[in-house]
Amino acid sequence: MEEIAANLVRIKNEIKQACLSVGRDPSTVRLLAVSKSFPVEAIKTAYDTGHYLFAENRVQELCSKIPLLPGLIEWHLIGTLQRNKVKDVIGKVALIHSVDSLRLAEEINKQALKRNLSVNILLQVNIAGEETKHGFSSQAVLEKIEELSRMPGLNIRGLMTIAPFTDNPEEVRPVFRQLKVLAKHIEELGLPGVQMKELSMGMSGDFHVAIEEGATLVRIGSRIFGTRNYVRGNVENEGI
Ligand SMILES: *Cc1c(COP(=O)(O)O)cnc(C)c1O
Repeated sequence: MEEIAANLVRIKNEIKQACLSVGRDPSTVRLLAVSKSFPVEAIKTAYDTGHYLFAENRVQELCSKIPLLPGLIEWHLIGTLQRNKVKDVIGKVALIHSVDSLRLAEEINKQALKRNLSVNILLQVNIAGEETKHGFSSQAVLEKIEELSRMPGLNIRGLMTIAPFTDNPEEVRPVFRQLKVLAKHIEELGLPGVQMKELSMGMSGDFHVAIEEGATLVRIGSRIFGTRNYVRGNVENEGI
C-alpha cells in the first residue's frame, strides 16, 4: 500500500519529464489510474494521496466498486462494453474510452436520450489492425464519423488506441503518431458534436512515447498497483 503512493509520485514525475522533453505543458496530460483487479483499499490508498481519476475495464467490477468509494472520484470505462451493459454504466462514468462499433454507439445514444443525458465517449481505433483487438479501423472511423456525429446523445471527445504489446516502446511510436494524424483529419471535418480534444493512448510500458506523440490521457495500471495475477493476453479482456 505504501508502494502505491510512491509509485504515483514516480509516475507523475515521469509524465512531467516526458512532457518537458517535447515542450508540452504537463497539465495537458492526465493520468488515469487503472485499478482493475485491485481491491477498493488499493484505490482508497491512491485516492488519499490526492489522486481522483480512475479507470476500470469491466462494467460489473466498476459498478461494484463505485458505491464503496468516495463520490469525488472520476471514473472512466476503458474496456470492451457489451450493448446490454450500456444502461448500467452511462451516468456513472465521465468518459467511455472503448466505443468500438456503430451498433454500440447507437445503443449508447439510445440510452442517453432516454435519460436525457449527453454521454462523453472516445472512439477506439485499432490502428495496428491486430485481430485480437477491438476497435474501428482508421478507414472505418472516417467512413462512420458523420453518422456518429448525428447522434445527439453522444459527445465525441476524441480517440483511444491500445498499442501492440512490445518490449521496445519505440516500435509502437508510429501507432501513436497515426492516431494523432487521424484525430487531426477528423477535427478538420468540423462536424458538430465531434471534438478531438482527447487522445487516450499509452500504458505502463509505453506511456513516455505516447506522451511524446500527443497523448492527453494515459492509462496506467501495473506501474501503480503492481502486477495483476493473470497472464497478459488481450489486455481488453483481462480478468474476464
Ligand atoms: C489494463 C489496461 C491498461 C493498463 O495496463 P498496464 O499495462 O497495467 O498499465 C490500459 N488500457 C486498457 C484498455 C487496459 O485494459
